[in-house]
Amino acid sequence: MPRAALAASILALLATMPGATARAEDSPTLRVLHCPSMIDVLAARRVGPHSIVIENDRIREVRAGRAELAGAEVVEAPAGSTCLPGLMDMHTHLTTQTNPQGYAEGFRLNPADFALRSVGYAEATLMAGFTTVRDLGDRDGLSISLRNAINQGLVRGPRVFTSGKSIATTGGHADPTNGVNQRLMGTPGPAEGVINGPEGAREAVRQRYKEGSDLIKITATGGVLSVARSVDNPQFKTDEVEAIVATARDYGFHVAAHAHGSEGARRAILGGVSSIEHGTFMTDEVMRLMKEREVWYVPTISAGVFVGEFARRPGYYPDIVRPKALAVGPIIQKTFARAYRAGVPIAFGTDAGVFPHGLNAREFVLMVEAGMPPMAAIVSATVNAAKLLGETENLGAIAPGRYADIIAVPGDPTADIALMQKVHFVMKGGRVYRTPDTVVPEIAMP
Ligand SMILES: [Zn+2]
Repeated sequence: MPRAALAASILALLATMPGATARAEDSPTLRVLHCPSMIDVLAARRVGPHSIVIENDRIREVRAGRAELAGAEVVEAPAGSTCLPGLMDMHTHLTTQTNPQGYAEGFRLNPADFALRSVGYAEATLMAGFTTVRDLGDRDGLSISLRNAINQGLVRGPRVFTSGKSIATTGGHADPTNGVNQRLMGTPGPAEGVINGPEGAREAVRQRYKEGSDLIKITATGGVLSVARSVDNPQFKTDEVEAIVATARDYGFHVAAHAHGSEGARRAILGGVSSIEHGTFMTDEVMRLMKEREVWYVPTISAGVFVGEFARRPGYYPDIVRPKALAVGPIIQKTFARAYRAGVPIAFGTDAGVFPHGLNAREFVLMVEAGMPPMAAIVSATVNAAKLLGETENLGAIAPGRYADIIAVPGDPTADIALMQKVHFVMKGGRVYRTPDTVVPEIAMP
């Protein structure tokens, strides 16, 4: 086929794809969304009726009262509801979900099985009001393919910023061959996300770039669900973290560090990471360092609570995992309370996948239970998350220029935070995905 004809047929194909966006010469789509009340997260207050003017996928204007606009399609948020910016979960795993057969499934199922399941998980996440997530660790590049399919409009899901494969050290949390018999174990290297030393660290970051990651995740300490003894030992040397962070910066990546233990967290913070995930056993000294260096804390209280619940069921986890889950479970919420009081910057994150996707908003209830005011919890899942992502021009508030990612809950969530679990309207990029009439699959507990 001549090159021009090939190009023409590719263009024709692109134009027929469901996600194909409006071409520049098309007239813009105008919508007005009427909200009975709204949370202005930038001012941290709830305000009365507002009209949000949306041009294509972005907010053009926010007006007080009920505005009419000639030629604009009118969208009504449900009566009595409060509009908020689309919620942002900074710690998810969209390509897996816990179940009692989870460990065996890694051997029985194919990447395609996990990929197809992730379609449902992504939809459940979006329907719960989460229009943006970070995905912090997958296998087989699935979260990257999922992100691309969502962006192409083929799958309904949140905007995904993904690390792709987490980077671990040999035997560390996220070494993909932990717990495997020695014949299958092999010696995974940087391409598989396992490093030992600064050279491997650089190589692993560059491999993630090649695969299409948006950011880097490292596992700075042991973890709960890996088939290994320690939950909190340090697993990276400082020079390894430094090599990761310096190389990540070359590619515009920020670095998220999983850390339960204090020493691993301390090395990660000093090495320049942007966020500490879980942070279970953090000392006051580590919290002080985070505050000083503006390192975000992503608490994942939900993960602690859920793994604690699952661990009490006989046989749910392997024997080596169970005591770790029981130890970490009750602590994270207390750590969160200390961190909030200490003034550590907090960005909302749950570890969804460790529990069923779509239950992310339970985290709000757990945060408020631990002493954070409802408005601060909402700000952590909008304004703060956008800051952590470096996306404040695009995400995190109902404000001109940002994406029209807007949700609504029935009533006032600043008076009753549990309403965050009852999202009944979801718009992403100006398109409505959920109204009170939308039939949403029920989330089954494993
Ligand atoms: Zn995680």
